[in-house]
Amino acid sequence: MTNESKPRVYLVGTGGSISFVGRTRTDYTNYSYDGKHLTIDELLGRVPEALEFADVRTEQFLNLGSTDVTPDHWLGLAKRINQIFRDDPDAAGVAVTHGTATLEETAYFLNLTVKDSRPVVVTGAMRPPTGLGTDSDVNLIDSIRVAAAPQSVGRGVLTILNNQIQAAREVTKTNSYRLETFQAADFGFLGYADSDEQVVFYRRTDRAHTVDSEFDVEGIDQLPRIDIAPAYAGADGLVIRALAATGVDGLVAAGLGSGSSPPPFMAGLKEVSDAGLPVVIATGTGSGRVMQTRRFTEDGYIVADNLMPKKARILLMLALTKTKDKAEIQRMMLAY
Ligand code: ASP
Repeated sequence: MTNESKPRVYLVGTGGSISFVGRTRTDYTNYSYDGKHLTIDELLGRVPEALEFADVRTEQFLNLGSTDVTPDHWLGLAKRINQIFRDDPDAAGVAVTHGTATLEETAYFLNLTVKDSRPVVVTGAMRPPTGLGTDSDVNLIDSIRVAAAPQSVGRGVLTILNNQIQAAREVTKTNSYRLETFQAADFGFLGYADSDEQVVFYRRTDRAHTVDSEFDVEGIDQLPRIDIAPAYAGADGLVIRALAATGVDGLVAAGLGSGSSPPPFMAGLKEVSDAGLPVVIATGTGSGRVMQTRRFTEDGYIVADNLMPKKARILLMLALTKTKDKAEIQRMMLAY
């Protein structure tokens, strides 16, 4: 096959462990301290096999650890990917390399703001390319394979690590070091990019995304500021009142269990909500729903259903670019 007849995949580098250069082959922990990264071309150069699957066009969007990634970067990346799709109607898809720390957040933001049904596939690595047994190379190839595969179209933004394809809405990093860290607690993975060279899917996510999303970041230069207040035994609302006093645009409470939290914490939430701040209640448990109970409804809260707090924050940011109406924001929380 000539390059021209292969699907064209844009490979966008943003940094992360998948790019970090450690000092030794057994450095799995301190490798980020020198701040040295391979470029996206160097990463691709390690895996010429990837070119069997696609004609790959690289671009270096950022080269940072993902703890340095901010909502401003999300805006820029979403706009850049939309531009790629606009400029190249024949592009098969886009693969993005990213640090694992905030990978799920960037992926979910893109899931709501990329205006194309072609695949956007985000990958990272738990071991840097300089480490023994690194997962960088396989994850990179897999991201290109999944982005090139026609069966990936129309499934929203995907993540791939450890051969497992996951939905951006559902996936969460669950372990600080293990390779199988990315999981989707209530749902399981969508499919595999496997060693028989097949990209196989078993299900699709049901919530709206990409072309069905009502959010448009084209004219937006700054997102509303939303913070997350975690609940725990003895949490008394100090953090909630302090955040509200700094002028945040909204709050997500990472509540206990089904969303209820210590009474003084709930009193803090009620106070700021009554003063007009949009408050979303999510669960801090790692999975499960927060329901529109009588109390939450009477008290004027928006509930996150089973969106985890970090993702409810992203959705609230985008919702507030369109409306301040709580009922409308609640509708959005249940739709995406
Ligand atoms: N510190 C890294 C980051 O950029 C962690 C990783 O990529 O696994 O998020």
